[in-house]
Amino acid sequence: MTWKLDKKKVKAFPNKDPEESLEILRSFYLQLKEHHFELPKLKKKTFRSMTHCNGKNGNGAHCHRDRTQICFKPLFLRKRAGVMNFLGLKDEKRDDIFIILRDTMAFGEILTHEVAHFRNKGVHNKRFYIRQHKLFDTFINGVISGEVYD
Ligand SMILES: [Zn+2]
Ligand SMILES: [Zn+2]
Repeated sequence: MTWKLDKKKVKAFPNKDPEESLEILRSFYLQLKEHHFELPKLKKKTFRSMTHCNGKNGNGAHCHRDRTQICFKPLFLRKRAGVMNFLGLKDEKRDDIFIILRDTMAFGEILTHEVAHFRNKGVHNKRFYIRQHKLFDTFINGVISGEVYD
């Protein structure tokens, strides 16, 4: 499977500091919140490593149903990279055209995906991806304007 091959590639990337990764995600979230006031308040435990959580599902991360917590896989926090379902564009039949996202793009994709779950719990329907698109638009404009940086 493509995912397994890509995972091998991801594992070869240099290790980064997982705590610093969480800090970057928190700062990106605060930036998103400046434009999306409806987002829940950021608390100390809102973003955590999945090592603190019993639920292990999710590609690189998952969002809790009570909107209190987003947990990231340790591998994602170490490598800041992953093959993700970029804004819902992934076509199961053409898995091979998706490249690995790294650093800022990886953070932006995974963050906007999980934050979109605050409104659409567990479902990946059209409404969900429209929501993620809006958040991603804010994120990218923040990167370009220099509001968002790591
Ligand atoms: Zn969790
Ligand atoms: Zn999801």
